[in-house]
Amino acid sequence: MEKKMMQAYVIEKERQGVVKAKPIPEPGESEVLIKVMAAGLCGTDSHIYLGEYYSSFPLTPGHEFSGIVTKVGKDVKKFREGQRVVADPNIFCEKCCFCQQNLQNFCQDFEAIGVTTDGAFAEYVVAPEASVFLIEQMSFAAGVLVEPLACVIYGQMRARPQLGDSVLIFGVGPIGLLHLQLAKRNGATFVVMVDLKEERLALANKLGADYIFLNNSELEQELKEKFPLGFNLVIDTTGVPDVVEKAVSFLKNSGKLLIFGVCPPHTSIKISPYDIYKRDLKIIGSFALKKTFQPAINMIESEQVDVSSVIGEEITLEQLPFQMNKFIEGKTFMKTIITINQ
Ligand SMILES: [Zn+2]
Ligand SMILES: [Zn+2]
Repeated sequence: MEKKMMQAYVIEKERQGVVKAKPIPEPGESEVLIKVMAAGLCGTDSHIYLGEYYSSFPLTPGHEFSGIVTKVGKDVKKFREGQRVVADPNIFCEKCCFCQQNLQNFCQDFEAIGVTTDGAFAEYVVAPEASVFLIEQMSFAAGVLVEPLACVIYGQMRARPQLGDSVLIFGVGPIGLLHLQLAKRNGATFVVMVDLKEERLALANKLGADYIFLNNSELEQELKEKFPLGFNLVIDTTGVPDVVEKAVSFLKNSGKLLIFGVCPPHTSIKISPYDIYKRDLKIIGSFALKKTFQPAINMIESEQVDVSSVIGEEITLEQLPFQMNKFIEGKTFMKTIITINQ
């Protein structure tokens, strides 16, 4: 490789991100060097940037990405230069007690590309061979959505919507829209979506939401009038504690609440334990993903999920410091894609 340095976005300390030159990483014996073609900006990246996550600085974030294999370590068998790939950012040890019980998302030696190790907001990123997956016809931008979709598939596998279910989803971001599409594929008879913004609700409509509601002061009354018995499954994708607290009251007897959005740590909500007991309610969490990368690839390649509609602005690496602030201020629409090396 002729070029030894690359451009990368680096968070040097809390709230300080710059694009600068740094050495191209060298793949280890069982690692793959990937030339990044596209990467996605995610809520996790903003939590890292704000110093609200367990990452240490300096760090190049970026855990949703696609690219081209550029170099492989000497023990790598499955990949060769030039292949189009995506990578599961979660690196599991496969040796600890959790990994041994197929609970890899609780791996005691858990590492994640772009969270604990340098990620894909750079021209090149390194990933272990075991984390890399081939993609075929999907675009590099669509490849960025494999990781978010893999998380949503894991969440749906945890919550298991049933044929004939009614579903209520709070939050119409890329994640809410992926949940909408999978809930319908899983047999929900209708899906109701709630958001603060009209333009987001319009997109929910386009992607198959049966009813849309603006989250304003009349919401509770409107929902309770139209759906007096509540919903079989309520999914929160907002990560707003007040929304999660309210969500319980919209559950049908024997209903399930999936807490998918990331609420700030150390927040709490009030729920009546009597209500949970008397109404057979279930509250379900869903952390990251577990072995759902290949299903996500399959669903995108076969066009069973529309990911292109959840893509927003496409920007360059140089525009990322500006975009990060815009994202934190809630002024971006849908998934920002950082286009690199193209
Ligand atoms: Zn993410
Ligand atoms: Zn482990």
